[in-house]
Amino acid sequence: MVAVPVTLAPRRPAHARATEGMPASGPLVDTHGRVHRDLRISLTDRCSLRCTYCMPEQGNEWLARTSILSTDEIVRVARVAAAAGITTFRLTGGEPLLRADIVDVVRRLSEVKSPDDPVQLAMTTNGIRLGEYLPDLIAAGLNRLNISIDTLDRYRFRELTRRDRLGDVLEGIAAAAASGLRPLKLNAVAMRGVNDDELVDLVEFAIEVGAELRFIEQMPLDAGHTWSRAHMVTREEILETLSQRWDVTALPGRGGAPAERFVLDGGPATVGVIASVTAPFCGNCDRMRLTADGQLRNCLFSTTEYDLLPILRSDAGDAGVERMLRSCVFGKLPGHAIDDPSFLQPARGMNAIGG
Ligand code: SAM
Ligand code: SF4
Repeated sequence: MVAVPVTLAPRRPAHARATEGMPASGPLVDTHGRVHRDLRISLTDRCSLRCTYCMPEQGNEWLARTSILSTDEIVRVARVAAAAGITTFRLTGGEPLLRADIVDVVRRLSEVKSPDDPVQLAMTTNGIRLGEYLPDLIAAGLNRLNISIDTLDRYRFRELTRRDRLGDVLEGIAAAAASGLRPLKLNAVAMRGVNDDELVDLVEFAIEVGAELRFIEQMPLDAGHTWSRAHMVTREEILETLSQRWDVTALPGRGGAPAERFVLDGGPATVGVIASVTAPFCGNCDRMRLTADGQLRNCLFSTTEYDLLPILRSDAGDAGVERMLRSCVFGKLPGHAIDDPSFLQPARGMNAIGG
């Protein structure tokens, strides 16, 4: 069966969709030699918060419930992906803990085997209700956790997320800190005039709870399309601020990881910076994404999606799923080109893509 990607406007040039020369077996490799090992699985586009850089205040027009992948469908994609060399699954959303059967999803995915390495199962969450779920998630096989927290100030949190739930997030972080799950990471999007005076406080908080703070440069992925370069706090500015408090030394051996890591005052404390805008790491990218409604994406910023849903709901078999995974990876462009004047923000907001 020929995999036909679904193209959202604007259309990609034909070469981006060609599959001539695409390997039919072996690892998931693109035309630039990048082998893909990491599949981010979005479990829902819904969320308990409304972060301004991600979602509009009223929420989105939600994905149709009938198009949301069932747990069986997700596990099937994961199984085929693992057989083709994927070794990390990261559950995300929207807010993955809003999925009613989240513990079952984790249990089923933790049973997926890869022929090479053990599969790692990670989750990115806003932390709300984590305390309630964490023991079951760990027992079900969750290996790693990233929790997002952009401010420690209740008033700011309410402004930024349009919900008064900082206390719930802190409870989730406390539960994660008390659990044995390590490494534990806290994510913060750095924003000018919003939380750029809290960068040191956030790192100190992370150190206190035994986590690593990872700053993320704000990306043009908000559903309201309000991103501006001027509002974004750059990697350089983040490092400059941290250097006023600590001696900041780069750690070698980043590999394909999105975060550059730095040691503070000789260690053991570390901090990460994900500079997708000012220092893109596309050349080493090994990630692909599956949206909650069954669209495969080879880049956060891509405007092309590869529709797995009809394949999963037909008699195409696992060979059809594998071919779509391969086509998606093979169609990957060398970089995201945010700096190109022709750059167009994807139609979906971050909550519907899966961060
Ligand atoms: N709801 C969960 C959470 O907030 O952790 C998981 C989904 S969220 C989309 C995943 C990550 O993407 C979060 O750390 C969030 O801060 C980040 N994010 C969302 N929109 C972003 C943007 N426009 N630029 C940079 N990071 C963004
Ligand atoms: Fe929800 Fe996460 Fe988006 Fe915030 S960043 S609105 S918590 S999906």
